[in-house]
Amino acid sequence: MKRRIILLGPPGSGKGTIAAQLQKELGLAHVSSGHLLRQEVESGSSVGKRAKGFLEKGELVPDPTVLEFMSNWMQSAPLDRGFMLDGFPRTLAQAIALDEWLDAKNAPIEAVLFYSCDLALALDRIAGRQSCPKCGRVYHVRSAPPKVPGRCDGCGAALVERADDSEAVLRKRFEIYAGQTEPLVEYYDRQGRIVVIDASRPPEERLKASLAALN
Ligand code: ADP
Repeated sequence: MKRRIILLGPPGSGKGTIAAQLQKELGLAHVSSGHLLRQEVESGSSVGKRAKGFLEKGELVPDPTVLEFMSNWMQSAPLDRGFMLDGFPRTLAQAIALDEWLDAKNAPIEAVLFYSCDLALALDRIAGRQSCPKCGRVYHVRSAPPKVPGRCDGCGAALVERADDSEAVLRKRFEIYAGQTEPLVEYYDRQGRIVVIDASRPPEERLKASLAALN
């Protein structure tokens, strides 16, 4: 089974939800750069201070800051247990840096799951999205509600709506995705590592297709 994986797709393509399911099924570590960056912002760290304004506006945090921050993660990456990268890499420079780090450890990425999704579906998904500020689990008031409204099933913390989930900011994040991140599809396709999954399919089918791609 493939254990070093990238989840790729626009905001609202359901990467967070599929990551939680794959974590449960396969025990892979879920690494969400957005969640980690939001924690840095909350803790007021040096990276957090530099990243804050970009997160609020829905813009990408500049590559040097992201690479500094992710290289810390790489030092202790669970290469044997396996991991799913969600939200990183997001630019060609980040993808090239990641390949270099992993090649040096002789542990290359084994599969890139690409969840394709259009803006209308993303907007629908994100209206009503709630997430746990503590453990990062993602819910949806209609399609994936928590057992107790407003509370995380995993750790009981009060759920929040993300400040950058407003329609205007989401449209901008989608545009930035199309310009900066979509070229990664071709980059990984050329390496023969990409698997395309239709993000509009129901959750069980998306999970089945994702598991099939990793086996
Ligand atoms: P989504 O996938 O729904 O857009 P994320 O939680 O992955 O949301 O990211 C939220 C924000 O965090 C992004 O809009 C961006 O500001 C920042 N961010 C996360 N990962 C990266 C990255 N790899 N490079 C640059 N900015 C990032």
